[in-house]
Amino acid sequence: MVENEQLRQELRRCEVELQELRAQPVVPCEGCEHSQESSQLRDKLSQLQLEVAENKGMLSELNLEVQQKTDRLAEVELRLKDCLAEKAQEEERLSRRLRDSHETIASLRAQSPPVKYVIKTVEVESSKTKQALSESQTRNQHLQEQVAMQRQVLKEMEQQLQNSHQLTVQLRAQIAMYEAELERAHGQMLEEMQSLEEDKNRAIEEAFARAQVEMKAVHENLAGVRTNLLTLQPALRTLTNDYNGLKRQVRGFPLLLQEALRSVKAEIGQAIEEVNSNNQELLRKYRRELQLRKKCHNELVRLKGNIRVIARVRPVTKEDGEGPEATNAVTFDPDDDSIIHLLHKGKPVSFELDKVFSPWASQQDVFQEVQALITSCIDGFNVCIFAYGQTGAGKTYTMEGTPENPGINQRALQLLFSEVQEKASDWQYNITVSAAEIYNEVLRDLLGKEPQEKLEIRLCPDGSGQLYVPGLTEFQVQSVDDINKVFEFGYNNRTTEFTNLNEHSSRSHALLIVTVRGVDCSTGLRTTGKLNLVDLAGSERVGKSGAEGNRLREAQHINRSLSALGDVIAALRSRQGHVPFRNSKLTYLLQDSLSGDSKTLMVVQVSPVEKNTSETLYSLKFAERVRSVELGPGSRRTELGSWSSQEHLEWEPACQTPQPTARAHSAPGSGTSSRPGSIRRKLQPSA
Ligand code: ADP
Ligand code: MG
Repeated sequence: MVENEQLRQELRRCEVELQELRAQPVVPCEGCEHSQESSQLRDKLSQLQLEVAENKGMLSELNLEVQQKTDRLAEVELRLKDCLAEKAQEEERLSRRLRDSHETIASLRAQSPPVKYVIKTVEVESSKTKQALSESQTRNQHLQEQVAMQRQVLKEMEQQLQNSHQLTVQLRAQIAMYEAELERAHGQMLEEMQSLEEDKNRAIEEAFARAQVEMKAVHENLAGVRTNLLTLQPALRTLTNDYNGLKRQVRGFPLLLQEALRSVKAEIGQAIEEVNSNNQELLRKYRRELQLRKKCHNELVRLKGNIRVIARVRPVTKEDGEGPEATNAVTFDPDDDSIIHLLHKGKPVSFELDKVFSPWASQQDVFQEVQALITSCIDGFNVCIFAYGQTGAGKTYTMEGTPENPGINQRALQLLFSEVQEKASDWQYNITVSAAEIYNEVLRDLLGKEPQEKLEIRLCPDGSGQLYVPGLTEFQVQSVDDINKVFEFGYNNRTTEFTNLNEHSSRSHALLIVTVRGVDCSTGLRTTGKLNLVDLAGSERVGKSGAEGNRLREAQHINRSLSALGDVIAALRSRQGHVPFRNSKLTYLLQDSLSGDSKTLMVVQVSPVEKNTSETLYSLKFAERVRSVELGPGSRRTELGSWSSQEHLEWEPACQTPQPTARAHSAPGSGTSSRPGSIRRKLQPSA
C-alpha cells in the first residue's frame, strides 16, 4: 500500500508535469508526427493508469481474502476450545465413576472376614444352634450372592472404564488430528498469503518499472517533439507565406475565371453558329437531293414507262394430264429474256414484253423484278401489281405462293418492314393492310366482321378528290407474324363463306391494299404510298352456249371489269384527258393508284400446255397491247411479227365512254364487229 501510495504520488507529479506541458503555448501543427507521438504517449499513460487501478483492485481482493481466512481460523479455534472442554468434562466424569467403583470394591473387601468368622463359629457351635447355622448359611449364601453380584457390577464397571479409556484415546487422536489439520491449514494460509503478497509486490514492481520506462520514453519523446517544433517553425513560416500568396491569387481567380468563361462562351457560340449554318446548308442540300431523286425517278418512270408488263410461264403440272394435249407449246429466246414463242395450231407466234419468266424462275426471281416498285411505295408512290391470266395459269401462286415458298404479297411486306426499319432513324412509318374482294361488281371486306356486307366507294368529304371505302377494315402490321395472322383471318373468312373457294376465287378479284404512311422526323414532311396487290379473276373466255344464269353473269362481270382495266391502262398510257375509271369497281377503287405518277406492273400468267394455247395467245395479246399503248403512232412497234396476228383482238369499253384517241393506234381492230353482252364477242379473236 505504501508503495502504491508512492506510485500514486509519482503519478500525480507526472500528471501535474503533463498539465504544465499542455498549458505551454502549443504551435498548431496538426498532422505532424510529434503530435501523433504525444497522443500515443498519452494513450500509453492512460493505459498505465488503468493497470494501476487494476492492481489496486487486485490488492483489495487479496485483503478481503486474508480477512476471510482469519475469520475462519478464529472459528476453528473456538471449536477446538469447545472440544477440549467437553473432553475435560468427560474425563472428570469417568474418573469420578472410577473412584466410586474403587470405593465400592474396598467396602466389599472390608465386609468378607466377618462372614468367614460366622461360618467357623457355626461349625464350632453347630450342634447347638443348627438353626442359627442354617440361618447363617442362608445369610452367607445371600451375602455370597451379593458378592457375586458386586463382582459382576465391578466387572461391568471395569469394562466401562476400559471403554471410556478407549474413547478418551480416540478423542485424543481425533483432537490431535484436528490440531494437525488446523496447523496445516494455518501453514497453508500463511503460505498463500506469502505468495499473494509476493505476487502483489512483483506486480507493483513491474508496473512501476514499466511506468518508469514509459515515463522516460514520454519524456524523451516530449523532448523530441520540442526540438521538432523548434525546427518546424521556419517551415511553418514559409508555409504561411505561401498560403498568403495563394490567398491573394484566389482573390484574383473569379475575375480570371469570368474572363476565361466569357472567351470560351464566345468561342462556343461561334462554333454553334457555324454548325447551324452548316446544318442549314446540309438540310438545303438534302432537300435538293430529295427533289432531284424524285425528278430522276419520274424521269426513269417516264423512260421505262410507268406501266410494265411481264409474263410468267408456269411449269407443266400433273393436273395438265398426259398425251398430245399436255405437250409444251411455249419456248423462249436464249439471248433475249423479253421474248416468248408460242406454237398455236401449228403456227409459231412471238411476243415481246418487258420480261418473260420461264417455268424455272423462282418466286425470288420474280420478286426481284418487282422489288423496286415496292420500295418506291415508301417514298410515297402508289403502286399496282396485277396477276392476269386464265384460271390455273399460276396467278395465286405468284401473288400468294405457298407457306414454304411465299409469293409477292408476303415478300413485299417483308421488304417494306426491313426498309422501314433501315430508315427508322430519320423516318417514322405506319404500315396498314386491308383485304377486299370484288365479285360480280360487289366490293366486300375480307377482313371485316361481316364479309357479306357490300361496301361502297366514296369521295373523301374533305374535298381532296380522294376516294375511300367507308367500313373497309384496316389492320396495322408491324411484323411478318402480324401479316400471317391477317392473311389467315381473311382466308378463314372466305372458307366459311364459300363452299367451293377455289372456284369462287377464280371468279373474283382479290385485293391486298398496303398503305405506308411516313413522317420525316427532321422536316415533318409526310408521305403516303399505297401498294395494291391484285389477284385478278380468271381471264378465260366462257363459251356463249355453255354459260347460263349465274355462270354467265359472273363471266360478264369478269369480262367487263378486265376490259375496263385494259381501257383505263390504255387511256393512261396514251395520256388521254379522260380515263374511264368509273367503268368498273376495280378501276374505280384503284383510281388513285393507277393515275398520276403511280406505277403499274402486270404479271401475265401463262400455261405452257398445248390445250391452253388459245387462252395463252389471248393473254399474251392482251399483255402486249397493254404494253405498247403508250408508244403512240410515231413509235408504234411494227417490227414484231406477232402484232399482225394480234390485229383481230378487239377492244370495247365496258360502258359508254368517249372513244380514246390513242386507242385506234393501239388496237387497230377496235370498234369493229362489236357484239356487246358476250365475253366471246367482246374479247375474242375475230377468227
Ligand atoms: P390461278 O390462281 O391462276 O388459277 P394457281 O396459282 O392456283 O392458278 O396455280 C395452279 C396450279 O399450278 C397450282 O397448283 C400451283 O401450285 C401451280 N403453279 C402455278 N405456278 C407455278 C409455278 N411457277 N411453279 C410451280 N407450280 C406452279
Ligand atoms: Mg387463283
